[in-house]
Amino acid sequence: MPLSSEQQAEIEQQRSVSTQTLRATAPGMEKHLYTAYPVLDHGFIRVVDYMGDDAAICQAARVSYGKGTKSVQNDEGLIRYLMRHWHSTPFEMCEIKLHVKLPVFVARQWIRHRTANVNEYSARYSILDREFYIPAPDHLAAQSVVNNQGRGEALSGEEAQRVLRYLTEDSMRAYDHYEEMISQDGQQGLARELARMNLPANVYTQWYWKVDLHNLLHFLRLRADAHAQYEIRVYADEICKVVADWVPFAFKAFEDYRMGGATLSATALEVVRRMLKGEEVTQETSGMSKGEWREFEGLLG
Ligand SMILES: Cc1cc2nc3c(=O)[nH]c(=O)nc-3n(C[C@H](O)[C@H](O)[C@H](O)COP(=O)(O)OP(=O)(O)OC[C@H]3O[C@@H](n4cnc5c(N)ncnc54)[C@H](O)[C@@H]3O)c2cc1C
Repeated sequence: MPLSSEQQAEIEQQRSVSTQTLRATAPGMEKHLYTAYPVLDHGFIRVVDYMGDDAAICQAARVSYGKGTKSVQNDEGLIRYLMRHWHSTPFEMCEIKLHVKLPVFVARQWIRHRTANVNEYSARYSILDREFYIPAPDHLAAQSVVNNQGRGEALSGEEAQRVLRYLTEDSMRAYDHYEEMISQDGQQGLARELARMNLPANVYTQWYWKVDLHNLLHFLRLRADAHAQYEIRVYADEICKVVADWVPFAFKAFEDYRMGGATLSATALEVVRRMLKGEEVTQETSGMSKGEWREFEGLLG
């Protein structure tokens, strides 16, 4: 586990104190609050705070004076309607604040999601830990031969051993030099803001990340997807588990309409209509490019 015993004690202390509130709380989320869930070899996600629940989405949609809840069935139906029709602002009424520890190369992908508030650990002010992401052997994959942006089978044998050795040794050597450069033992010591440029992109960083539910679901749609890089996908998968407990109706609707659903072009829809009438449509008669047709066939299974 990536947390020290002091950090773990801080979390336990925080979890041991509770306060009364008039605000809506989500029972499913309370059990996650403050707990760190490990991701990759040194990373984690943990919920630091949240606002709202499924009822808050309905409350906003109905611009209600009270809690906004009519009945469980009614609420679920409303949330599904909102999701289906891209009426997204009610989902923005829920927010989550996460503490995330992640490798810098994952952070570079993550930070592209601009509709969030971020505060990152300062490597100008503080010394980074000797923590580097080293893939587990079964994730040490070869370059994909069909997708320039993907990976294929796991490396094996001598090549796998050598790659793992390079990754580990290079990380440790870079950190040794980092430590040596910032040391003020018998020398002035290079500024931390400069010494850090020597560290590779697999070094871990941390941030607080606050986002509303609408934009979080957008993030999860892209990053929990099979096409996302494994190292960010595992974070998204862990967040999905938390969101499923926090706003179960919204998450179920999201899984149904976004994760499990698909968007068809007008051309593709026309092809489906022709197929339903019994016509045998091929790529050549579909009006779709080869790539579109391949993806369309993939969708229909
Ligand atoms: C599989 C995959 C591969 C990728 N490959 C690459 C790559 O090769 N190179 C690369 O650079 N990126 C790449 N990306 C990143 C991608 O292009 C997006 O930057 C990233 O997914 C964030 O999406 P977003 O902009 O929709 O999210 P957010 O920044 O959270 O924005 C959410 C939505 O808000 C709106 N919005 C936010 N800011 C603005 C703005 N300034 N102007 C207009 N509208 C705005 C847009 O509608 C946007 O969809 C990849 C992403 C994925 C998932």
